Amino acid sequence: MAFSPSRPTKPRLPTGSGTARAAFWIGLYLCAVVAPLGVLLSSTTPAGGGFVWEAGIGFGFAGLAMMAVQFLLTARFRRAAAPFGIDLIYYFHRFLAYGIVLVVLLHPVLLAWENPAVLASCNLREASWSMLSGFGSALLLLAMVLVSAGRKLIRLPYEAWRISHLALAIGAVGLGFAHMAGIAHASASPIVRTLWTGIGCSLATVVLWVRFLRPLLLLRRPWRVESVRREPGSAWTMTLAPDGHPGISFQPGQFAWVTLRHSPFAMREHPFSIASAPGADGRLAFTIKELGDFTRRLGEIGEGERAYVDGPYGAFSCDRHPDAAGYAFIAGGIGVSPMAGMLRALAERGDKRPLLLVSANAALDRMPLREEMAVLVGTLDLRFVPVLENPPEGWQGESGYVTEEVLARHLPPAEERRDWHCFLCGPLPMTRSVEISLRRLGIPPDRIHVELFDMA
Ligand SMILES: Cc1cc2nc3c(=O)[nH]c(=O)nc-3n(C[C@H](O)[C@H](O)[C@H](O)COP(=O)(O)OP(=O)(O)OC[C@H]3O[C@@H](n4cnc5c(N)ncnc54)[C@H](O)[C@@H]3O)c2cc1C
Repeated sequence: MAFSPSRPTKPRLPTGSGTARAAFWIGLYLCAVVAPLGVLLSSTTPAGGGFVWEAGIGFGFAGLAMMAVQFLLTARFRRAAAPFGIDLIYYFHRFLAYGIVLVVLLHPVLLAWENPAVLASCNLREASWSMLSGFGSALLLLAMVLVSAGRKLIRLPYEAWRISHLALAIGAVGLGFAHMAGIAHASASPIVRTLWTGIGCSLATVVLWVRFLRPLLLLRRPWRVESVRREPGSAWTMTLAPDGHPGISFQPGQFAWVTLRHSPFAMREHPFSIASAPGADGRLAFTIKELGDFTRRLGEIGEGERAYVDGPYGAFSCDRHPDAAGYAFIAGGIGVSPMAGMLRALAERGDKRPLLLVSANAALDRMPLREEMAVLVGTLDLRFVPVLENPPEGWQGESGYVTEEVLARHLPPAEERRDWHCFLCGPLPMTRSVEISLRRLGIPPDRIHVELFDMA
C-alpha cells in the first residue's frame, strides 16, 4: 500500500498562551538582525556610490548580524525555546541559512554593480587582508551550508559533521567580523563600533556558555544508569537515576540530550524522548532503537555507569493542550517513546478522557513497549490499535499502513474528534501521510502535533 501524496511536515508556530511569549522572542530576534541596519542608516557609510551601494553595504551588515544570531538559535536557551519547541528553532536555523547565503552574496554583487572599481580590489594576489577575510567568510559559509545539506548524501557521520559545523561557523563569523573591521571600522561612527563590539561580545558569551559553562553545570549534576533492558524491535529501555540531586522537572513527551561514556564537554550527546512519566523519584526512562554507532552499543552499558542529561526540551506534550476532549497518539516504530511518556503520565493522574494509541510496526514482535501499553488499556479509557505491515496468519487487527480509513475506524465521530489533539511521531513519510489524513478527517491543523526524530 502506498502513502498518499503529501507536502513536507513542518513544525508550526505556537498558538494560545504561548503566542505572546513567541512574539516577544521573534521581536527580539528581528531587533538583533535589524539593529545594525538601523545604525547603519543613521551613520556615514564608506563612500562609493548611491542607493545600490548603500543597499550592498546594508546586505553585508544584515548578513553578518544574521550569521551571528544563528549561534543564539542553537544555543538551547530553554526560556527562548519553550514557546516554539526546539525542533521549530532548529528548523528555522536550517531554513535561514539559505537566506543568509543569499544576503551575503548580494553584498559584493550590489557593490560591484554600482561601482565596478570594487572588482579590482578582488584580485586575490593583491587584495588587502580585510578583503581576503570577506572572501574567506563567504566561502566558509557556503561550505557549511553545502556540507549540512548533503551530509547524509556524502555519509558524513553526525559527530564529524557537528564538529566541522561548529568550526566552519566560528571561522565564517570570525572572518566576517575581521572583514567588517578592516573595511568599515575606520570610517565607522562610535555608535557602529559600539554595536559591533556588543554583538561580538554577546557571541563570545554564547560560545562560552554553550561550550564551557553549560557542560560544567551538567558535570555537577550527574546521573547513574540504573538498568538497561532489551525491548522488542531491536530497542532498549535505559533508566537513569539522579545522582545527588533531585533530577529535572519536565512535561510528558519532552526530550533530553543524553551523554554516556563521555564528559559533557565532548559534544557526544544524543537526543531521546523521555518515555517515563514525571515522578517524585526523579528517574528517567528512555526507549531507544538501535540505529548507529551510539545506539548499537547501548547493550554494553552497565548498571551504575555515569550519564549526563541536558533537558528537558521540546513542545511535544499533551500538557501544553490540557483542554483537549481526548488525545490520539499515532506512532510509527520507536515513535511510541514520547507517547509512552504521555500515556503513563495520564494514567498516574487518573485521567478519564478517551484516548487512542495507534502503533504501526512491521510485526507484532517488533513493537517496542507493547506489553506496557497493553497494560495501560486497563487503567485508562484507552483504545490500543496495533497496525502491522506484515501481520501473522489469522490476524484480526489492522494491517498495512496507517491510512485515513484506519484512522476513521478508530477516532471518535466527526463532531467529537474536532476537539481532540493528535500527536504524531514516526518516519517522515508516515507522519506526512497521517497528518494529511487527519486534516481530511476534520482535525484542525493546530491540533495536530508532530515530533520528528531527525533534527539535523
Ligand atoms: C527530539 C528527538 C527525540 C528523539 N527520541 C528518540 C527516542 O526516544 N528513541 C530513539 O530511539 N531515538 C530517538 N531519537 C533519534 C536518536 O537521537 C538517534 O537515533 C540517535 O542519536 C542515533 O545515534 P547513532 O550514533 O546510534 O546513529 P547514527 O547512525 O550515528 O545517526 C543516525 C541519525 O541520527 C541523527 N543523530 C545522530 N546523532 C545525533 C545527535 N547526537 N544529535 C541529534 N541527532 C543525531 C542523525 O540524523 C543521524 O543521521 C530522537 C531524536 C530527536 C531529534
